Amino acid sequence: MSRGDMAKPLLGHGSTEGDPSVTPASGRTIGVLGSGDFARSLAIRLVCSGFKVVVGSRNPKRKASLFPSAAEVTFQAEAVKKTDIIFVAVFREHYSTLCDLADVLAGKILVDVSNNTEINHHKESNAEYLASLFPACTVVKGFNVVSAWTLQSGARDGNKQVLICSNNQEAKRTVAEIAQVMGFTPVDMGCMSSACEIENIPLRLLPAWKIPIFLALGLFLCFFTYNLIRQVIHPFIREQKNKLYKIPIEVVNTTLPCVSYVMLSLVYLPGVLAACSQLYYGTKYRRFPDWLDQWLQHRKQIGLLSFFCAALHAVYSLCLPMRRSHRYLLIETAVKQAMEKKMNIWVEEEVWRMEIYISVGIIALGLLSLLAITSLPSIANSLNWREFNFIQSSLGFIALVVSTLHTLTYGWSRAFDENQYKFYLPPTYTLTLLVPCTVIIAKVIFSLPCIRHRLLRIRRGWEKGRYVKFVLPSATGEYSSGETSSNV
Ligand code: NAP
Repeated sequence: MSRGDMAKPLLGHGSTEGDPSVTPASGRTIGVLGSGDFARSLAIRLVCSGFKVVVGSRNPKRKASLFPSAAEVTFQAEAVKKTDIIFVAVFREHYSTLCDLADVLAGKILVDVSNNTEINHHKESNAEYLASLFPACTVVKGFNVVSAWTLQSGARDGNKQVLICSNNQEAKRTVAEIAQVMGFTPVDMGCMSSACEIENIPLRLLPAWKIPIFLALGLFLCFFTYNLIRQVIHPFIREQKNKLYKIPIEVVNTTLPCVSYVMLSLVYLPGVLAACSQLYYGTKYRRFPDWLDQWLQHRKQIGLLSFFCAALHAVYSLCLPMRRSHRYLLIETAVKQAMEKKMNIWVEEEVWRMEIYISVGIIALGLLSLLAITSLPSIANSLNWREFNFIQSSLGFIALVVSTLHTLTYGWSRAFDENQYKFYLPPTYTLTLLVPCTVIIAKVIFSLPCIRHRLLRIRRGWEKGRYVKFVLPSATGEYSSGETSSNV
């Protein structure tokens, strides 16, 4: 979220949810212009909410059967005459064809539900364009963020918020009432100049996920290339062995845990940096740099992507023995051992390493699943602050420690084996340990009583070297002012 975004409240102050002054509007007649998907779903929902609905179509006879029998389907001009509130469920390109209705529409409220196909497609928003075509009407922008499917599926599913804006407070309030009766949560987005922003909302593609997805893809690409060099290119150049078959599963499966592990540490690293900044400046009232702010905002998405990669790693690992290459290599090794008359191939240390490695990995995946589940809004809402903080912060940190153990048991003593340094490149797991270990060490340092105590004080409002104005009576009884430090 940029600073500009942060300046705005998450919900407009005008949200009318729970406002006792808002009276139920059901029973009113609502007009709908158009007979397409949106008009149909809207009419169904309005009828179910107790409104009388009159639909205006260019071809009412043909379209009537598509609507519930309680809705009246008639010609556009007829429909408009019967109501003061009309939803314009027609594409912007066809607004001008409604100009013949200008006289009957005069003085009425038009609700613009339209969306565009591209962000900032037109200079002016669709709602402003509609208002310019019908200056004698009051235009309200709304309902465009709700899909036809959501309208039909009811308030239980889909997005419940309906963003509304208009230059006319009364008209906005009327539309908000209708939305509320329909089971939606109206959110007042201010005057008509917000229409453009509201129209862009349904067109945004995962805005909160862009940075985390690029981060995950970037990490994946780096680790994939690194593993490819070590597992495929190195044997080809040094031993002329074709190991290309390793690319789809083995290389991917060594890359996924690296991405997952580093991403998990990146969930906790911004918290560490924020704490360092607060300790350094001795205050919590100094704004973090924009990049750190952004990073802190994206921790949930980064964590979920970390879980996604870990889950894929688990599935890939389970599938490893199913591969034909694995069976061939297994039989080849067995034949070699039989020919060498080796009967006992049990290596106690390897057995223990593998048992611990898998067990710790399962625990790490379980903890990550817990973190992912509790980040879902429906679950998060059922937890109080302490429970949520315990799971996301404490259990999350434990997940990072357990993942580190998983990585260390995987590596075991390989970091000290010079055969593992292909083209002088260290094993991948040693690289992945860098950031997570830094985070773990920093967290341990922050938990030392002296630092923890200082951090807690700062977070409760204490500031280093804060000077306050004071006023003291002088010997003569006069008052003199000065400054002192409240650094206690
Ligand atoms: P649609 O199925 O294509 O329906 C458009 C309707 O516009 C037609 O059924 C037609 O009804 C009417 N219309 C009036 N004058 C027209 C003309 N000159 N040429 C063609 N059609 C004309 O579209 P829709 O999906 O319902 O979308 C309608 C509006 O709702 C659009 O502005 C869209 O952006 C908005 N919206 C849709 C959704 C959604 O999920 N579908 C979600 C949010 C917003 P008659 O033939 O009966 O006149």
